[in-house]
Amino acid sequence: MRASYATHPVDLGECDCPGKPHAHDEAVVKDRFTFGDLRRIAYAMGDDGGLVQSVTVARGVDSWNLVREARNGLGLVVGTEPLPVSVETVDELAPEQARKLTEEFSKPEYDRQLRASLGLPPKDEEVPPDGKVPPVSGETSPDGLAEPTSSNSETSTPAP
Ligand SMILES: [Zn+2]
Repeated sequence: MRASYATHPVDLGECDCPGKPHAHDEAVVKDRFTFGDLRRIAYAMGDDGGLVQSVTVARGVDSWNLVREARNGLGLVVGTEPLPVSVETVDELAPEQARKLTEEFSKPEYDRQLRASLGLPPKDEEVPPDGKVPPVSGETSPDGLAEPTSSNSETSTPAP
């Protein structure tokens, strides 16, 4: 089945599959997250166990060449089968392979998509963490004396 979105390959390094059948492991990732991907990633952001990383990789990977051991009804290994792409199987990846995919989805183009879906401005337009906004001309006092910032009484919220 052809994907309805553009994709590109990501090299996952040396083969880590059982029996090492590949010269290299490789994933094919989406150039853009879909609506459903963004919704699920945003939802996983509320999880403090790091689930968002697994969800981002599972939703962003279109396919990979990874295989796992295939077992028969008796639980005996009978060969290999393609490893499906899911949150659970992402958690089974070698840390190095998972890191490569996590790095891929940390790139600015993905960050922009995620921020846009959350209604956030792009990273470079963000107010610095210290909250200081650069002074706008006309707001500085003409005598050059900096007024001490008065603590705003409105910020203290009374207990309900
Ligand atoms: Zn492999």
